[in-house]
Amino acid sequence: MSDYVFSPPAIPNLSILDSDKVFPVHRIYCVGRNYAEHAIEMGHDPDKELPFFFQKNPDNLVVNGADFPYPPMTSDVHHEIELVVALQQGGKDILVENALEHVYGYAVGLDMTRRDLQAQQKKMGRPWDVGKAFEHSAPCGQIMPVAGIGHPAEGSITLKINGELRQHGDLNQLIWKVPEIISILSGLFELQPGDLIMTGTPAGVGPVQRGDTLEGSIEGVGELHVEVI
Ligand code: MN
Repeated sequence: MSDYVFSPPAIPNLSILDSDKVFPVHRIYCVGRNYAEHAIEMGHDPDKELPFFFQKNPDNLVVNGADFPYPPMTSDVHHEIELVVALQQGGKDILVENALEHVYGYAVGLDMTRRDLQAQQKKMGRPWDVGKAFEHSAPCGQIMPVAGIGHPAEGSITLKINGELRQHGDLNQLIWKVPEIISILSGLFELQPGDLIMTGTPAGVGPVQRGDTLEGSIEGVGELHVEVI
C-alpha cells in the first residue's frame, strides 16, 4: 500500500437505528422536481419531464443532529425535505423489478439549496453545484433499515419551521418511484454500495433564517431536527 502525502479524510457515514455499525457513504445523488406541485411552483410542467439528477458531495452531510451553519455568498437558502434511499448493493442497468433488493434502508434528509445561486446558474445554463453541493448542504437523519420498516411507498412527508408547517406531501405523490429512480440512475452511473439517493421534495420550499429550527418528518421512516446557526 502506498503512503499518502497527507492523512486522507474519514469516510462520511450515517448512523443506523439500533446498531453499533455505521453506513459508509459513497456518493449522494439527488432527483430534481419529483413531486408535481413542486415542479409547478418552480415554473415547470411536470408532465413533460424525464427525471434528472445532480449530486452533492458525501462530505456535505450533516449528521447526528448537528447544526446547519448558514452558508456564505447567499441570502436565500431554501429547505427541501426529502426521502433518502441508502443502497447496500450497486450495479449497472438494474431492472425496475429488482431495484428494491439493492436498498439497505431509508432516512429523512434535507437538500439545502442556495436558491439565488441556483437561479443564476440556471439562467446562464451553468451547472448547479454552487447552489446545491456546498458545505453542510445535506443534513440527514439515521438510517432505518428495510428489515424494520420495509419500503415506504406512501405516508406523509412534512417540514416545519419553528413549529409552523411549511412543506407537506405524501410519498405516493412521487412522480418517479424509488425502483424507477434506481433503475434509471443505474443506466447513467455504476451504482455502488453506500450510495444515497435524495428523491426530491414536495411543494412548499422556502427560505430559512439563522435561529430557525427545522423539523422534518416522514411517516414510517422517522424524523430529522436541525438548527440553523
Ligand atoms: Mn431537492
